[in-house]
Amino acid sequence: MKTGYAFKNCNIIYGEAEKGIDQGLTMLTGPDGLIQEIGKAGDVAVPSYYQTIDVAGKYIMPGLINAHVHLFADGKPFALSASEGLLNFAFHHILDTSLGRRILKKRMKKNALTALHAGVTTMRSVGEFFYNDVQLRDEIQAGQFVGPNLLVSGYFLSVTGGHGAPYLALTGDSPWEARKNVRINVKNGVDLIKICVTGGVTDAKMVGEAGRLQMTEEEVAAVCDEAHKIGIRVAAHVESTEGVRIALRGGVDTIEHGAEMDEEIIHLYKNNPKALQGYTALIPTLQAAYPTARLDVSLTKASATVKENSRLVYDSMLKGLQQAVEHGVKIGVGTDAAMSYVTHYDLWRELDHMMRRTKLNASQVIEMVTKVNAEILGMDHLTGSIEIGKYADLIVMERNPLEDIQALSDAAMVMVRGRLITAPSVTRIQEVDELLDRVWSIQE
Ligand SMILES: [Zn+2]
Repeated sequence: MKTGYAFKNCNIIYGEAEKGIDQGLTMLTGPDGLIQEIGKAGDVAVPSYYQTIDVAGKYIMPGLINAHVHLFADGKPFALSASEGLLNFAFHHILDTSLGRRILKKRMKKNALTALHAGVTTMRSVGEFFYNDVQLRDEIQAGQFVGPNLLVSGYFLSVTGGHGAPYLALTGDSPWEARKNVRINVKNGVDLIKICVTGGVTDAKMVGEAGRLQMTEEEVAAVCDEAHKIGIRVAAHVESTEGVRIALRGGVDTIEHGAEMDEEIIHLYKNNPKALQGYTALIPTLQAAYPTARLDVSLTKASATVKENSRLVYDSMLKGLQQAVEHGVKIGVGTDAAMSYVTHYDLWRELDHMMRRTKLNASQVIEMVTKVNAEILGMDHLTGSIEIGKYADLIVMERNPLEDIQALSDAAMVMVRGRLITAPSVTRIQEVDELLDRVWSIQE
C-alpha cells in the first residue's frame, strides 16, 4: 500500500560532505515516493493520514548506490580455474535452457533484494545473461515487486575470444560490428553499454593476460558514438594503463576497475570531450581483486595464474585510485558484487578499503557512494541525496556511519521510492564474512 511517512527526530546525513549532519528534524515522504518536506518539528505540518516513525537516536541518509554489480551470482567463491570444457557444458546443458533461465532469473531477483535489504537502493548491473536484467528492471518499474532502482547493460560487448566471450558477451571485430552490437543491446532495452577493452582476471589463461588490450580505439570510439547519440553511457572494463588510454581516447563515460595513470590519462579523465558529460569517471573495485591477490591459495582456492593476475591488477588499480584522489578525478563506488568474495550486502567494505588505502574520510566516501555515484550514472536529478523532490531512497542506521563506516552494514530500515522496509533481513554467507573480517590481519 502506498502511504506517506513522517520521520521524527531525524539525524540526517544528506549525502553531501559539506552539509555534515543535522539533528532533530522531521522529514516527510509522500505517497508519490518522493521526499516532500524537511524541517524543524514545529514547522512541518504532518498530514493526519501519514504514518509516523520516531527515529530518535538513529541516523538517516540516502540509500546506497552500487555502480558495478552483476546479479547472476552472490559472491560465494567459485572455482576461478574452471576449465573451458566445463564452462561450455554448464552453459549449454544447464544455463541456456528454459528451466536454467528461470532459475537464473530467480537468483538475480534474490540478489537484488539482498542488496536492497542491505541499504542499496540503486544498482547498476554491468553484464548479465539473456537480458534477464532488463526484465527484472521492468518488473520493478511496473510495481510487480518492491526492488532497487536498476540500471542494466544486458550482455557485455567484447571481441572474438575476448573477456566474457562467448557466453556473457556479444562479440564484434570492427567498428561496424561494434555499432551493431550496441544497436542489438539497445533494441533489447538496456540503459547503458558495457564494453571489455582488455582481458579480465576471471578468464585470463596466462599471467599478464588480464590487462592485455582487446578492443581497438576505433572500436571503442564507434561504440561511444553510437551510444552517446541516443544519450546512453558507456562503461569500460579496463585492467591496464594502455587499456585505460584507449578507452579514454575512445570516449567512454566510466572506467571500471582502472589502472595506474600518466599525465595524458589524468588529463583525459578530467576533460574528455567525447564523453557524454565531458569527463570520465573512475569506478575502482578493490574488494573484487584484494582477497584473491593477497590471501594464500590454500584459503581462496584460486589457481596460481588467477592469484598473480589479481595481484597485478590490484596493485595497478590501487595506484590509479590514489592518483585519482590526488588529481581530483571524479571517483564513484562499485564492488563487482557476484565475483568471488564480493557479496551484494557489504558495500561498506569497499568504502572501508578506500579509507584504509587513500586519504579519503568517511564523509567523502559516503558522498561518493550516494551523490557522486548518482551524478556519474546520470541519476542525480532523481536520487543520491536527501533533497525535497528526489526519490525517498533512504536508509536508517542505529549507529553513525561518519564515526564508523561499518554502521552501514546494519540497516534498521530501508526505503526505496517511498516504500518502507521496516525490518530488513539479509542472508549472509558465513564463510565469506569470516574470511573478509580477517583479511587485513592475515594478508601476506
Ligand atoms: Zn564486473
